[in-house]
Amino acid sequence: MRVSKLFNKTLKEDPAEAEVVSHALLIRSGMIRKLSSGVFTYLPLGWRVLNKISNIIREEMNSSDCQELMMPIIQPKELWEQSGRWFVYGKELIRLKDRHDREYCLSPTHEEVITTVVKNEIRSYKDLPLNLYQIQNKYRDEVRPRFGLIRSREFLMKDGYSFNRDEESLSHTYQEMYEAYTKIFTRCGLNFRAVEADSGAIGGSSSHEFMVLADTGEAALTYCESCDYAANMEMAVHGKRNYENGNNGKLEEVHTPNKKSIDEVSEFLNIKPELMLKTLVYKAIFKDDEKLICVVVRGNREVNEIKLKNAVSAIDLNLADNEEVLKATNTPIGFLGPIGLIDVDIYVDEEVMEVKNGATGALKEDYHFIGVNPKRDFPKSSIVGDYHNVDEYDHCPKCDGKLSFKRGTEVGQVFKLGKKYSEKLDCKFLDDKGVEQHVTMGCYGIGVGRTMAASVEQNNDDRGIIWPIAIAPYHVIIIPVNMKNGDIVNIAEDLYKSFKEENIEVILDDTEERAGVKFANADLIGYPIKIVIGSKTLEDKTVDLKIRATGEELIVPLYEALGKIKEILL
Ligand SMILES: [Zn+2]
Repeated sequence: MRVSKLFNKTLKEDPAEAEVVSHALLIRSGMIRKLSSGVFTYLPLGWRVLNKISNIIREEMNSSDCQELMMPIIQPKELWEQSGRWFVYGKELIRLKDRHDREYCLSPTHEEVITTVVKNEIRSYKDLPLNLYQIQNKYRDEVRPRFGLIRSREFLMKDGYSFNRDEESLSHTYQEMYEAYTKIFTRCGLNFRAVEADSGAIGGSSSHEFMVLADTGEAALTYCESCDYAANMEMAVHGKRNYENGNNGKLEEVHTPNKKSIDEVSEFLNIKPELMLKTLVYKAIFKDDEKLICVVVRGNREVNEIKLKNAVSAIDLNLADNEEVLKATNTPIGFLGPIGLIDVDIYVDEEVMEVKNGATGALKEDYHFIGVNPKRDFPKSSIVGDYHNVDEYDHCPKCDGKLSFKRGTEVGQVFKLGKKYSEKLDCKFLDDKGVEQHVTMGCYGIGVGRTMAASVEQNNDDRGIIWPIAIAPYHVIIIPVNMKNGDIVNIAEDLYKSFKEENIEVILDDTEERAGVKFANADLIGYPIKIVIGSKTLEDKTVDLKIRATGEELIVPLYEALGKIKEILL
């Protein structure tokens, strides 16, 4: 391709609405353009990147015995009523009517359709397992579309669905998909982690999210530096921490005038923060009502509100304000404690239960208890569980290795659905004893546009995008610095021709722009390799070869340029 013919205009300024770097750079480099809120056109360079990601996905899916098909985007309301999701999905579902007043939605996902398609075709266990996928646009009416391709209303997805005879067969397919996803994101040149996405069970997880690491990622996660343990912060657990818990002491009330915070009381009583038992009161919101609950963690710990919310089975949790706390406990914030607390559910972190000689608020202004032994002194109705955040002093729950903390953007998910949809939509087969059974399903998604955006979040600098070679729109750009010099132009044209003959993905900047503008555009768009043809090429028959990712510059004899490029691209 020639830049003079390329449908591409770069921009100097970041678009005003861009909150993240991928949004800004994809617009500025001319990869995408906004049509309306959360709806984008993929321009030729952007579409090349998306197709490269799609093709890597296709190759890995096909080699795992998955078969590609294509389902309709317009889906009838009746199917969604059968699955119970027509109402559950709420306002995110884009709904429409045809001229006969029949109702439809634009697909946000395809469980309903694929289950219906498969149930009409399969007869017996001999037809299973089956693993089908498609790469297609999906729709979600986001309240506030933002972050460019990361949260848009129309987005390109690979969605796959497996149909298995039982849990064991599903586990096998799930593992295959997990490995295929690992290959896909590795081949895309991304630094990523597969994190456990549901609570509890290490190893036996029924859902993993694939997160591309980047400082600007949407979610916080932790991973082990020595093994494959990784989890979202909201689900993360850790190896047992060793504390000095003290010896059994006598429960005693002590005067702590105006000492409220953990640090103040800790210093005043000369008791380590980890032996201070911090009590917080939350307002838990349920479907029909709300109530106050309290949680106790060690003074060195932060409450993990997601873990707590799950334990309470609440829709939402908010820290109670001073007034609410005073009304419920008759105690101002700062002197709260679980001992003697009535009519409030008490959630006690499991680490707290090991303490033998701790301190906590005495439920009385300006007083604390010392000599606290939760096993002995806390109400027996306390609900013990893991309600704290993992922190930098914790170790891996699997191998005791060091934990790292990063942010990431989710680009894919593998999920065991079980019989949720096969039962609702009545998708059955005859097992080897001739008995009808519902199929067991799994689903497997990759956000193709998200993968493109996450790659930019991970790989960029102040000059622009740095594409990994596997998904770059073109691999090499040839830049003749002076188009008025016929000799320079001839060498550039010859090189361009010889690269094309060898099927190298090359683009020639044959525009009349100044060299500086050509360099800036090439860096902004993020081609992995630049070859510069200048007056030096005429003098000593060498070219300047610059690697975008490393900043490395090589002086290569003209006749060796092709070989060198092949070597780098290998
Ligand atoms: Zn580990």
